Amino acid sequence: MYRFLLNIYNKVFKTATFSESTVSKGSDSVIDFCCSPCQEHNIDQWAEFYCENCLKFYCGKCINLHGHLFGKHEMYGRGDTSKWPVPTEVKDFIQKCDLHEEQSIEMFCDDHSQLCCRKCVFLNHRQCAEVTLISELVKGPPPELQQLSRDIQSLHVELKKLQNNWDINIQSLKASYKKQLHEIGQTRQKINTILDEMEKTTMKELDARMTSLKASLKSDLDKIIKLKNETKQFGDAIHAIVDKGKEEIAFIASKKCLEKMKQSENFLKQNSVQIKSSLTFHADANVQQYLSKLSGLGKIAFVTKELVHLDDPDQVFTVQGKSSM
Ligand SMILES: [Zn+2]
Ligand SMILES: [Zn+2]
Ligand SMILES: [Zn+2]
Ligand SMILES: [Zn+2]
Repeated sequence: MYRFLLNIYNKVFKTATFSESTVSKGSDSVIDFCCSPCQEHNIDQWAEFYCENCLKFYCGKCINLHGHLFGKHEMYGRGDTSKWPVPTEVKDFIQKCDLHEEQSIEMFCDDHSQLCCRKCVFLNHRQCAEVTLISELVKGPPPELQQLSRDIQSLHVELKKLQNNWDINIQSLKASYKKQLHEIGQTRQKINTILDEMEKTTMKELDARMTSLKASLKSDLDKIIKLKNETKQFGDAIHAIVDKGKEEIAFIASKKCLEKMKQSENFLKQNSVQIKSSLTFHADANVQQYLSKLSGLGKIAFVTKELVHLDDPDQVFTVQGKSSM
């Protein structure tokens, strides 16, 4: 019977305290006892016999030495493991109070349907009518441990599957996180490209306006310089022919000079106001307003995909759920 207890223990808590049999029979893995003399020499050797007189375990080799010395001791082999004792560690694990680790379960409260240690009884069950010693209760029919062992094992298998599913779930979440980081980067890149394009277009327009305005101002400046030089030339020429009695030249000079003066005066009249040219840029407020109103580049959604395994393993369908976060 203890073999099943061991099974339960081993399935639930794999601990280094117990050695696990190297020979697994089917899917059964059993906590096993080591040969006591071998263990004293730090050798791990599975026990083949238990001696009820020595209260010790022996391997195939050590049992011969033991046989020479204590031929009359009561021995139990692998066929009689039901006569082998329950390991202390298992006993401690089973008997330990869940609430008070240092205490052993000694009683059962029927009022609360609860196992209790002395401390439990003292603290919580002093008013209870039906608190019975375990040693009294075991006089009835023993509990069905084999079925219990099978049940808890299949429960353990289910939990293992669930753990596996959860591991896969976490991996999938991590993978999606990485992918979304990349997506966010891509989205940003696209917006950058659009903004770069807009900037380029605006710069191009500025350049075009600059070129045409510069050309227009330059042509006006050229005209001014030309008029300035011509008036200087005429001024000097007139000065040179004054009082020289050259009537024909004086006539032509005065006509030409008057014409040039008219041109210059008209030009001066047209440009009587001093001008300072400049270009200005008025940012489109709509663009900035729109962008500043947005709280992010997009929405993050939490998606669950239920993988429902039917009895037929080929028939797997998915149910999708979605929620914004
Ligand atoms: Zn041995
Ligand atoms: Zn012995
Ligand atoms: Zn307790
Ligand atoms: Zn109680």
